[in-house]
Amino acid sequence: MLRKTVIITGASGDIGNTTAKVFAKAGYNLALTYCAGSTKELENELKAFDIEVKSFKLDQAKETSITKCIQDIQSFFDYIDTLVCNAGIAEYESLLIEKSTEEIDKVLDVNLRGSILLNREIAKIFIKQKHGNIINISSIHGLEGSSCEATYSASKAGVIGLTKALASELAPYNIRVNAVAPAFIETNMTKCYSSKEKKDIIKRTPLGRLGKPEDVAEAIYFLASDKASFITGICLPVTGGVVKF
Ligand code: NDP
Repeated sequence: MLRKTVIITGASGDIGNTTAKVFAKAGYNLALTYCAGSTKELENELKAFDIEVKSFKLDQAKETSITKCIQDIQSFFDYIDTLVCNAGIAEYESLLIEKSTEEIDKVLDVNLRGSILLNREIAKIFIKQKHGNIINISSIHGLEGSSCEATYSASKAGVIGLTKALASELAPYNIRVNAVAPAFIETNMTKCYSSKEKKDIIKRTPLGRLGKPEDVAEAIYFLASDKASFITGICLPVTGGVVKF
């Protein structure tokens, strides 16, 4: 039987790194992507598992990079089972009226346009093989909107729309498409928050703690697994019970 391969974009970041380890433990081959960072250390760690791991450069803001990355992955691995579309960027907090068009475009290009193009490229492969899983990473801000992060919120709301639309479109081909919407997770992306801000978030979180990359990684793995074989088109909040920031 062919071993399943999972593509994890943004594996050089914290949620992607932890997600890679969860899939490695479950015996998947791994196609990892990085942009300005590196997945070398992660690749070395994953040598402990009896799986194939290879890293690929991906700039999600560029269509040519997306198509090349998927072609390279397809020529290296026999059978791609799952795409975890995780790479993303935050925006610095300020009123929308203070944002330049360039800043807005950058967030939309990476988080939304890049996700749409990646979903399209992988769908071409999944339709041919009549099987596949896509898990897109949205955010609680995509569900609820966050003041002073209007573009990021819009990009992540767009990811939910993409997920729901594509779930219907691809269901006849036995392809499931789901999303997760994390709230505050302790990663490189949120390291700019002060300890006072983190305490405030904990106070407003019913489960009384900050989220960890493992919380998101396990939710992603569940949605990719056969345990979720009758689930498609959902956006699963991973928020510790927070409804709105
Ligand atoms: P990190 O900053 O740790 O990781 C971000 C990842 O995205 C890195 O691997 C980075 O690659 C990659 N990336 C950035 N720009 C590009 C690009 N242009 N092309 C391709 N890859 C790129 O953040 P997290 O692990 O926290 O975030 C992962 C996802 O989770 C993101 O989509 C984020 O929006 C989402 N999220 C995070 C939350 C949080 O609280 N942390 C909450 C809700 C959602 P490299 O470093 O190599 O440049």
